[in-house]
Amino acid sequence: MTGKSSRRSSLSRPKHPRWTGQDLQALRITNLQALLTAVWEHSPISRVDLSTMTGLAPSSVTRLLQELMEMGLVQETGKGVSSGGRQPVLVVPNPNAGLVISLDLSGPQARGGLFDAANNLLVSIDQPFTGFGPQAIRDLVFELIHRLRAEAAQFNRPILAIGISQPGQIDTHTGVIYEASNFRLRNFPLRQILTDEFGLPVYIEHDASVAALAEKYYGAARNLDYFLYVLVSTGIGSGIIIGGQVYRGETGKSGELGHTIVNPGGPLCVCGKRGCLEAVAAAPAILSGARKMAAFGRSDLLYELCGGSPEKLTIEMVAQAARAGDVFSQDILARSAEYLALGLINLTRLFDIRRVIVGGEISETGELFLDPLREKLIDYGRDRLDVEIIPARLQQNSFLRGISMLTLQEAIGLRVKNLET
Ligand SMILES: [Zn+2]
Repeated sequence: MTGKSSRRSSLSRPKHPRWTGQDLQALRITNLQALLTAVWEHSPISRVDLSTMTGLAPSSVTRLLQELMEMGLVQETGKGVSSGGRQPVLVVPNPNAGLVISLDLSGPQARGGLFDAANNLLVSIDQPFTGFGPQAIRDLVFELIHRLRAEAAQFNRPILAIGISQPGQIDTHTGVIYEASNFRLRNFPLRQILTDEFGLPVYIEHDASVAALAEKYYGAARNLDYFLYVLVSTGIGSGIIIGGQVYRGETGKSGELGHTIVNPGGPLCVCGKRGCLEAVAAAPAILSGARKMAAFGRSDLLYELCGGSPEKLTIEMVAQAARAGDVFSQDILARSAEYLALGLINLTRLFDIRRVIVGGEISETGELFLDPLREKLIDYGRDRLDVEIIPARLQQNSFLRGISMLTLQEAIGLRVKNLET
């Protein structure tokens, strides 16, 4: 290539990288989702305030709102307070646009909810787990969806989509549960199974990411763009929020904090490896320690609380005993907190994260767990606590509400893509 022609080619090169149609579509979807979220959060809200809140130009807000109105998801209502000129028209969500079926499989029992298009919970139902493995989980999910579909009939609105909050490693792009050890699932194509059965869009997301986003929009992490949500229940998962978005990793399976190794050669984990954080710090590890204390007569209080049946001990009972001064229960919680601190110090340093929200079943122990966690973080850290530990604010229905919100957002993306292909 001669100097002349290479000069010409560099002159003809655009100043900025060329945007492809796909990039522009993705940007539009992101903006539509951000706008809808802002309407949900701050309704009733004026166009001017929406522009300030989302950083979108007023002309873009008008154009995108028009699209959301055509989808029936938002509507205009009354007039707001004028700051001198014309009274601004206010925008509100339209709850009547449709319904979302939302399932949460992360608790001790499965829970389903029916939400309107403004993300208000209309009905919730619980269903105990009767077994695990592909067939049992398929049956349970079908049963919950059938029950919620029956409930939906009374509202006379279309069901827009199904969303599921699920523990384990999930490929959110394909809806395949890659690995959920506690559920005995591996490479389980849940989205495909549900789409085939119900003919609706299905969205499946990692439970800790769902909880993180719910806390960001409705709870303890409002306005935070960098934080970690740690879910300590039967397993330990984490939702990593970076720049206001869930960090998913290359294949959508990020956040498996529970299977990072903190005790090499330690107890066997459900994943088949030894010494995972989950095996030494999650609820089953706490309960196993407490059961031994009750069964061997070390802790009279734990024995009394479970009515002489150590297998009936719960995290709440351990918390109750610790609160009443039972040193064995306090030690068990502190040991779990110590291991979690080890996992957290590494993760927060790696991602430069200053805030960690702790939720899940462990929330029942409150400061009995969080205080030793903070102490250990100081020990492992630089003699001061440079990571703020915040208890989760949303409980019971936060997963349902979070997955419903994400599912509605996904439904917008799907609709835009379908209209343009
Ligand atoms: Zn493991």
